[in-house]
Amino acid sequence: NAGMEKLLWRRSLQLRDKQQAWQESCEGRKVMELRRSLPAYKEKDALLAAISQNQVVIISGQTGCGKTTQIPQFILESEIEAVRGAVCSIICTQPRRISAMSVSDRVASERGEKLGDSVGYKVRLEGMKGRDTRLLFCTTGILLRRLLVDGNLKGVTHVIVDEIHERGMNEDFLLIVLKDLLPRRPELRLILMSATLDSELFSSYFGRAQIIHVPGFTYPVQTHFLEDILESTGCRLNPYNQIDDYGQEKMWKMSKQAPRKRKSQIASVVEDALKAADFKGYSPQTQESLACWNPDCIGFNLIEYLLCNICENKRPGAILVFMTGWDDINSLKEKLHANPLLGDPRRVLLLACHGSMASSEQRLIFDEPEDGVRKIVLATNIAETSITINDVVFVLDCGKAKETSYDALNNTPCLLPSWISKVSAQQRRGRAGRVQPGECYRLYPRCVYDAFAEYQLPEILRTPLQSLCLQIKSLKLGSISEFLSRALQSPELLAVKNAIEYLKIIGALDENENLTILGRYLTMLPVEPKLGKMLLVGAIFNCLDPVLTIVSGLSVRDPFLTPFDKKDLAEAAKSQFSRDHSDHLALVRAYEGWKVAERDFAGYEYCWKNFLSAQSMKAIDSLRKEFFSLLRDTDLIDANTATYNVWSYDEHLVRAVICYGLYPGICSVVHNEKSFSLKTMEDGQVLLYSNSVNARESKIPYPWLVFNEKIKVNSVFLRDSTAVSDSVLLLFGGSFSKGDIDGHLKMFGGYLEFFMKPAVAEMYQCLRGEL
Ligand code: ADP
Ligand code: MG
Repeated sequence: NAGMEKLLWRRSLQLRDKQQAWQESCEGRKVMELRRSLPAYKEKDALLAAISQNQVVIISGQTGCGKTTQIPQFILESEIEAVRGAVCSIICTQPRRISAMSVSDRVASERGEKLGDSVGYKVRLEGMKGRDTRLLFCTTGILLRRLLVDGNLKGVTHVIVDEIHERGMNEDFLLIVLKDLLPRRPELRLILMSATLDSELFSSYFGRAQIIHVPGFTYPVQTHFLEDILESTGCRLNPYNQIDDYGQEKMWKMSKQAPRKRKSQIASVVEDALKAADFKGYSPQTQESLACWNPDCIGFNLIEYLLCNICENKRPGAILVFMTGWDDINSLKEKLHANPLLGDPRRVLLLACHGSMASSEQRLIFDEPEDGVRKIVLATNIAETSITINDVVFVLDCGKAKETSYDALNNTPCLLPSWISKVSAQQRRGRAGRVQPGECYRLYPRCVYDAFAEYQLPEILRTPLQSLCLQIKSLKLGSISEFLSRALQSPELLAVKNAIEYLKIIGALDENENLTILGRYLTMLPVEPKLGKMLLVGAIFNCLDPVLTIVSGLSVRDPFLTPFDKKDLAEAAKSQFSRDHSDHLALVRAYEGWKVAERDFAGYEYCWKNFLSAQSMKAIDSLRKEFFSLLRDTDLIDANTATYNVWSYDEHLVRAVICYGLYPGICSVVHNEKSFSLKTMEDGQVLLYSNSVNARESKIPYPWLVFNEKIKVNSVFLRDSTAVSDSVLLLFGGSFSKGDIDGHLKMFGGYLEFFMKPAVAEMYQCLRGEL
């Protein structure tokens, strides 16, 4: 052991010398100069002192002040200077893959090193980490996985949890686990970093932990609301028909033709439109008003108009556009490329910034464009706090972000773009004032802004908890509800109960809430439990190929496009892929066709012809590989013999596996003279999304549909569905492990009474050995 210690000491000395040499080198000095200009640098000594004296420290500071790139680096540098370089181990978690990757890259280059030397990263299925890596940036999920095998985080000296203000589910979860761990590891240091000032909550959660604030500075930003923008374009606003959906031309035309209206009149029209509303989380009046202003009201045309206007008439400076998601960004980008000014690469550098962009594109975002070229970045809320683009002077804010919400009462998740909070809106505006005074265009009226919530609800309060509950169990953290009651803000009891009930029904937990074998396998797959189950069953039944496609397809955005003006054509194109009342099997055929076309370098044309998203197809392709390698790790399949595919052509079997995975997402098909209606037990009548292949049929020759998602908008809608027969439901609905038979029967028994033919029900009970 003494020999080992000596070795580490020598290694630490080497690291110190190396660091010193870099800092004294010419390039190193240049970097230091840059770093010294960041606000975080001024607090360096205070920060390090606080961290050495307290087990928990909370650091708040405006986005861009240098929290993420500097603070972990300060700790690393001071450890190396104190000749502890070879024994320290600093982990810094990020809510998103992309920030873990881009930040580690940045920090390594600031230290004059290659990624994977002293600084590395690790995200799902990817990483860059070497023997000497002492500072590791990883996603929160990766640290949670590590806790799975190493509950005491042996050897780790510092844990930094970044972006806690976002209140993501994983981060809230991690904080409970770490809070339990701290007394067992008195030497461990925990540092929490937040971009907003509401650190009191976190401080009191950790027994009045010390808060350090990094003061920042921003230039004033002029704010324009929708009514101001509309007035300056001279357009009249009639919310019912004149400001139209994304992609429609009216707005653009209107902005040129319509007569100028006085501001007060416009405001009153806006308010009229906002009278009748129903939107969750707000007071009844504002609810209705907000519902009118759905995201589509913003109009791509308005954005296009504003971008042109800024490029032609305003001073230089990058433009940052906040959109709701990847799909919007892509469609908008396509539209802007067709614009003679915005699509001209000599004048405009058009970039996207979202969670799934390529790393080559990532770097471009930080680069300054050539003189005379205007940089425009279309971003999701990732650019709100995680990624700082330095030269932004103009911000366009659509006011929405895609977020999941969860209606515990109906046990129905909703994924909809919804209004951001006031805090987010301020963050977005702040992006414009980092280098000089800026301008922020809010594409929504002032009265809507006034109705925004102060803060966003933490994710743990607005998403289904199934995966989280599974994780709690796999980390052996005891009773689920007891554990969750110790969260920063605990989820509703009903939501917890629903999740546990669901996990019992699908057979992941037994009666006593213990993880079953199925449950244990599910925790190894980073997808929703039902999709994980489908994968496992597909592997066992040797029909893996189509199941991989289905699960990947359900994890990306819908590959079947339905452009507004070509809805009919698109839906007809989709139903070509369908032969037997299944959206899932239609997806399999569409993907297989694409694969063939892709081999002939005709993938793009194929997508174009069939109204498919080429990007989604590519995403499916790479997810399939990911899932396959994870399954191989579970040892359920033997990658050498490929027996896992011998039944892949058998659509009946695949249909059964779909049923196995999606159960209890099931509804009954009730036929009447001309058509059919659908019912579930909880919701009564439900409807199909219009782009489902089953929505185009007048008859479904099966008594049941299984579906993977229901979403409540006004009515309850089912996304993709597959029709199944009685026998398939009997044999593949639910889990047949012994422990959960009760929960399963309860669920199924309800269906028996409600919908099933007596003879079938009898048979079912017989098969179960009950009669
Ligand atoms: P915070 O975490 O406080 O929001 P960061 O540490 O992320 O701040 O960023 C500090 C500064 O470093 C910002 O000005 C940001 O623009 C810059 N920066 C971060 N990453 C890069 C990069 N990859 N390339 C260039 N500049 C970067
Ligand atoms: Mg940061």
